[in-house]
Amino acid sequence: MSFASLGLIDQIVRTLASQSYEKPTPVQAQAIPAVLAGRDVMAAAQTGTGKTAGFAVPLLQRLTSDDGQVASKKVESNCVRALVLVPTRELAEQVHDSAKAYGAGLPLRTMVAYGGVSINPQMMRLRKGVDLLVATPGRLLDLQRQNAVRFNAVQALVLDEADRMLDLGFSRDIDKLLALLPKKRQTLLFSATFSDPIRALADKLLVDPVRIEASPANTTVKAIRQWIVPVDKKRKPELFLHLLKTRAWSQVLAFVKTRKGVDALVELLEQKGISADSIHGDKPQPARLRAFERFKAGEVRVLVATDVAARGLDIDGLPAVVNVDLPIVAEDYVHRSGRTGRAGASGEAVSLVCADEVQQLAAIEALTKQTLQREEEPGFEPEHRVPQTNAGGQIVKKPKKPKKGKAERDARADAKVVQEDVRFRR
Ligand code: AMP
Repeated sequence: MSFASLGLIDQIVRTLASQSYEKPTPVQAQAIPAVLAGRDVMAAAQTGTGKTAGFAVPLLQRLTSDDGQVASKKVESNCVRALVLVPTRELAEQVHDSAKAYGAGLPLRTMVAYGGVSINPQMMRLRKGVDLLVATPGRLLDLQRQNAVRFNAVQALVLDEADRMLDLGFSRDIDKLLALLPKKRQTLLFSATFSDPIRALADKLLVDPVRIEASPANTTVKAIRQWIVPVDKKRKPELFLHLLKTRAWSQVLAFVKTRKGVDALVELLEQKGISADSIHGDKPQPARLRAFERFKAGEVRVLVATDVAARGLDIDGLPAVVNVDLPIVAEDYVHRSGRTGRAGASGEAVSLVCADEVQQLAAIEALTKQTLQREEEPGFEPEHRVPQTNAGGQIVKKPKKPKKGKAERDARADAKVVQEDVRFRR
């Protein structure tokens, strides 16, 4: 199958070819014709499946061409024609970069808007009107409150990583924004996982949607080898260093539960002469972007992040993701693992698991319907063993030892029986 056969115009097909996109991924093969036909879409697709092009490419075409001919359409001052909502600043940058690349040569104005940076340049840029705006919900509402953006010309809305937006508490902001958008519009909803709140949102938003499932919902990408290393909590940093030394990973994305933990690990890595940088919520946005860019450019070997960065990081051919701590929310395991083994390449996702994390492990195994293979690392066998779990999400209990008192009572009773028996035989 080719991009041209999906109904894309020559200009876009050529641009995609110049980026070495030879044929559509399964999500693209399903989403592109549906979006071009003006249908609503509900897609179960995680990062790494090519979903960004799946929605951005056909939208860009609809914004510039009705009949195969490219023509620029007027967009009024402060108006937006297509709106892409994303959960994080990193993803906003990334989706916008992709959209710009896919739309190269098309007469379109695109823009990205997120919080944590000055609002004025964003207000200025909106003055001329924007064809495609990628934004995080909070900043978009701020812009709207200041009359910098109007939604009456919105013809298409994309909710990208909708599950993540709800996880991050954007539900009310999204409701407020939806109330401001024209009822007659095309809506596309992308989510890696489909929980009940996401289904409820989809029911509310979508009209007769085309349903797309790129990989079964709530499963991790198959090309990824996943396993866990049981270890005592206090030895995790040491084990991480050991793995970095013994595995041939050129680069590693590591996840740590807390911001403090991220900083401590980066410091330790640097002490050991391993180049590292970090992304977490306490860092100003420019510093986060810089860390990400340095990692992408191969200037640092290890990027340590909290879950803020779990979504949207698009790094081709990343060999390994290490969960130094398991995520609190099981779905985040799927998102984290999605950073490796991208676009068909193989990858590894290893989790360092201590006894305290057994509930999280059980929840992850239940969600992904698998029992993660355990591989103890010689020299790091834990003193506090991690209880066995199974793919049903259960923690397998060891048969209970009888209580000491009871054991003694039983032993005494047994002895009595034996004595009586002996007596009887005499
Ligand atoms: P996404 O899931 O949209 O984040 O895309 C994942 C990665 O796959 C990105 O690096 C894209 O540039 C790449 N990609 C997307 N579609 C294709 C395609 N049809 N052929 C080759 N690479 C692609």
